[in-house]
Formats: sequence, structure tokens, C-alpha cells
Amino acid sequence: MKQFRNTVIRAGLGVLYFSGAHVLLRPIFSGVGAIFMLHHVRPGKAGDFQPNRHLEVTPDFLRAMLSHLRAQGIDLVTMDDVHRRLIEKNFARRFACFTLDDGYRDNRDYALPVLREFEVPCTLFVTSDFAEGCGQLWWIALEMTIAKASSIEVTIGGVPTRLDTASAAAKQAAFDRLHDRLRGLPEHDMTREMRALCARHGVDDAAICRDLCMSWEELKQCAGDALVTVGAHSITHCNLAHQSEATASEELTVSRARIENALQRPVVHLAYPYGDRQAAGAREFGLARAAGYKTAVTTRPGMVFPESGAHLTALPRVSLNGNYQDTRILPVLTSGAATAMWNGFRRVDAA
Ligand SMILES: [Zn+2]
Repeated sequence: MKQFRNTVIRAGLGVLYFSGAHVLLRPIFSGVGAIFMLHHVRPGKAGDFQPNRHLEVTPDFLRAMLSHLRAQGIDLVTMDDVHRRLIEKNFARRFACFTLDDGYRDNRDYALPVLREFEVPCTLFVTSDFAEGCGQLWWIALEMTIAKASSIEVTIGGVPTRLDTASAAAKQAAFDRLHDRLRGLPEHDMTREMRALCARHGVDDAAICRDLCMSWEELKQCAGDALVTVGAHSITHCNLAHQSEATASEELTVSRARIENALQRPVVHLAYPYGDRQAAGAREFGLARAAGYKTAVTTRPGMVFPESGAHLTALPRVSLNGNYQDTRILPVLTSGAATAMWNGFRRVDAA
């Protein structure tokens, strides 16, 4: 199903590009700016089974995006500047802002050097448990488990089920099924199931976080770069909408306090973990406001419009998705036509 959806999205982007529709749509949907979202930035790896590929782009693709934006004369700004422009209603020039979620070490090793080439600022949204080396990156643990197994035993709906994971196609199907199921579970059930699965298949899930994410010490060095802003991305990377109000609020306030304490700098911007409609809604937008964040970004697709200034804790983003690293789509993405298509042609999606 996901593969089918990817194909449809790619075809849609192609239609927008080849038809030139994005040029016609640009004045309507391009808004005043865009906040781009990245996760991993690193050279591509070989292999057919890459279920988390949407979460990574190559340094070359990032470089192409930055060249494109520069050629368009778009201002490349910080989250503080996005906030200021929205508050002051200063839309004389279009802007773009780069954000990277989770605090991966490849951000330092591959994204920052490219951003420095163009002197473009970025915001790293840090999950405090990841920086402490004790977080659970279950989507990667699931990928690693399925990659090495030829079949997997799981209990789905109380029924023991054996999933074939021998071929790349079977692995992808099993991943899609388990990913969606795990994301729907309460956090502690998901953690328990994932740990059991890793244990059965000899995957060291505790090591994933330390292997991939920057420690406080590394983040401190990164944060010393004038181009880098550090924002918060919760304590545990849980689905906030699944938590009690008290727990969700603690995720927002304690994570910020931990980052501020470790890096000795103020943290005023937030990215909701997962950030989609199932993970961040009106309650979370209110909690972020109450916690004192100047802005909070979602993963709801969209460009920034003047009206976004009334919804500073529900800002949309444009994902740079590793499944569509075709430089021809860059003008489509910056036209706003693609995100408009994905979000039902809404200018503001903040309910
Ligand atoms: Zn995240």
C-alpha cells in the first residue's frame, strides 16, 4: 500500500512538473515561505529493503535544493526569523527555513557542511532521551529486525502470526503491517513488543540510539556553530496525543529544560514527534503555547501563509522525502502545489 502511495505521489509530482501546473498554481499556493523538514542526511545505501528511506536525503540533493532556493532569491532564515516575520507581518520577501528532526549525527557530518557552503542556518530538533543515549528508535529497530530475518513471529489481535520476510517485497509488506500496528499501540505496549522482537532476532536495540544520535557533548559542539539553533522534540519521542495531558505537558517542558541545561542556551522552538494529525492536534498546540514555545512545527504538509501567524504552534512543513530525490521536483515543492494537493488545498491546517 505504501509503495502504491509512493508511486501515486511520484506520479502526481511528475504531472505537476511536466504539465507546468506548478507554475500556474504558484501565486495561489506558494504562500509567503516554507519550513523544510529533514531527518537523516547521508550518502544513499545499496539494497532493495529501505523502508525508512523517506526519512533520508543525500547531501547532493540537499545541495541541489539550496542552489534552487538561492537561484529563486528566497531568503534562507532561522526559526526566530520565521517567527519575527509572521508576528511583524513582514512578507516583503519569500523565505525558507531548514529543520532537522531527532538529532542524528549525520546532520553534523553531512548536512552541516552543505549548509555551511551556502551559509544557511538550520534548526536541530532534539529528543532529549536520544541525546542521553537511552531512547528507542523503534522504526529503525523494526527495519533492522526484518532485514536480518527470513520470517517473523508476532501476535496480532491475540493471534500468533508468522510473517514471511524472505524477499525484499515480503520484508516491505511485513514492515508496513507492523509499523502501522506498532504506531497505534500505547507507548509501553509498543516498547515491550519491540524489545521482545529485537531480543528474539538478536538486534541490539539499545545501541541504535547511541550509534545514530548525537550525545549532549556532540550537540554542544554543534550548537556552538552560529548557523545552528537547537529546538525541542520531546523527551521520549512518544505520540503526544496518546498521553494524558499531564504527561504530554511534561514531555514539552522537561525536554526543553534538559536541553537548556545541557547546552546552556534557551530553547524556544518545538517540533512535535511524528507531528501528524494522529500525534498533534488542538490540545498539543495549546500545550506548546502554554509551555511558552515561540513556534511549534508539525509534519502536516503545507506552505506558510500570512494567516499562519495566528497559529504559531501549528506550523506546517514541507518534507524533503528520500523517495523523491529528483531535482525536477524542486520547483514543484517550492511552488506549494504539491503540499496543496496533499493537504486538500488548505492554506491553514491548524485544527
Ligand atoms: Zn522525530
